Parts: sequence; C-alpha cells; structure tokens
Amino acid sequence: MRPGDRKPDCGNKLVPSASAERLHRELLQWLPGETLFRLVSRLHRLWGHRTADQTADVLFGRRRQGYQHDFSSGLHEFEQNTAGLLGDVKAIALERTLLRFYRPFLSPAKLDETIAAMASPSVAHLKFRLGLLTSRFRAHHPLKACPACIAEDIATYGWAWWHWDHQYPGVWVCLTHGQRLLESATKTNGVARFQWQLPTLNRQHAWLSRSEAPGPDADEGLSRLGKLVVELIEQREVLHLDGEVLRRIYRQKLIARGLASTSGRLKLALAAQDFLEHVRPLRLRRS
Ligand SMILES: [Zn+2]
Repeated sequence: MRPGDRKPDCGNKLVPSASAERLHRELLQWLPGETLFRLVSRLHRLWGHRTADQTADVLFGRRRQGYQHDFSSGLHEFEQNTAGLLGDVKAIALERTLLRFYRPFLSPAKLDETIAAMASPSVAHLKFRLGLLTSRFRAHHPLKACPACIAEDIATYGWAWWHWDHQYPGVWVCLTHGQRLLESATKTNGVARFQWQLPTLNRQHAWLSRSEAPGPDADEGLSRLGKLVVELIEQREVLHLDGEVLRRIYRQKLIARGLASTSGRLKLALAAQDFLEHVRPLRLRRS
C-alpha cells in the first residue's frame, strides 16, 4: 500500500490482522466459471461499500487498482490480502481473467511476462506488448450480457452476473438463448471504468445501442463463430498455437487458393478482397 492511500473506515480491512476465520466469513467463494471482476463486483455489493475505491483498497491495497475487467492489475496484492484463499497470482490470472482466452496464442515467455505484469500494480502498455493494439482488431473488450440470461439469473438467484462465455472476443450471440449480446457502456468512459458492476436491465446500467446485422445470415454466422471460440477455450485441453506453424499453414492454404504465388508471395489485393467477403456477413453496425 502506498503512503497516503486511504483505507476504508468501514471495518472491512482484511489483512494482515484478520484471522483465517474472519477471512472465510467475509470473502465469497468462486462460483463455477467466475471471473475476478465478477467476484469482486459481488463482494462490493455484499459489503455495501459506498465507492468502488473502498473495495479496491481492501482487496488490492490501493484505490483504482484491479478494476480492469480483462487484464487485472495488482494480483500479488490481491493474493496477499486474501491470504491465498482464492488462489495464487498465476491461477487467478490464467483462470479468472481474459488471459484465459489469449493464453493459447502466447509463447511461454510472453505468458510469464503477462502474468508478472498482472501481479504488479500496473498493466500499462500490456496490450501493446501483447500485440493487441497493433493488430488492428482493437484491444477493447466490452462487458457483454444476454438479456434473457439477465432475466433468468435475477428470477433464479436474485441478481445477474457477467457470464464467462459471453466475454470472449468473437462472441456476440448467447449460445444458450440465441440472442444478440448487449454491450455495456460501463468500461467505456473515464469515471465508470473504475466501477464494480453487475448487469441489470434497469436504468442503473447503461448499455450501448444494439448493433444491427447486415442480413439474415449474420446471426447464424455469429453463432458459429461464438461456438468455435467457446469450444476452443473451454472444452479442449489448453493448447499453444505456435505462430510459426500457423504462418506456414496459412501460406500453404493461400497458395492452394491462388491467393499467393507458388513461392509464397502474397497477392494482397486478391487476399484482402477474399477476406472481406468472408467476414462481411459478420460485420455489425451500431444503429
Ligand atoms: Zn442467454
């Protein structure tokens, strides 16, 4: 904790004086498939803190820490403040953050570097170092939710949460209900991005306007893409996709389709047009 940082005066300071018994009493356990952001949002509501800073301070040792819903910072402090009862840094980073999605695409060295950054107080420049900012696919990971899932969760449990399989990049349709996912505005502005929030359908939660699909095939295409993503991450053994192997496979396929010369030289205009036609049905426009 930095000098000058303020601890909440609500009596929820957990460590170092908190007994193991008190920690067990005041912490929630992971629910199946739960993200760190969702667990902390539940704790925030349970503890009744007035501000998001209070909850961040208790769990991450300082204000405006750990609030990132994709790649959280301050995991070392979180592990210390929860006495490891919710797992260590590595387990939390790999299983409870969006690193779970990106893991197969990272080399072991890059994976270690990413976990080390998430353990530290700052994840600044992490998305750049992972190549996300320069990929042209955007490094923005909006919180997403299905309206039918929210209604069911509230009816069954009294509150709704961010479903893990809705948060993966490439997933825009709920695979349970077939409904297009809502995109939260929570993490898109300067103030709200520090909040711990759970999804609701009332006015307390701001959603961006629904995206419009260009044709009737779009939802089917989006469902197929979402299913592929979820299967890749959730249902198979953790695998590593070697970039060099992928590059060779893509080149062979491009040559076979006439989109590259036999020497492997890319016919960029042709390949770009072909790719555009392939993804056109999946492009959504904000209404
Ligand atoms: Zn749903």
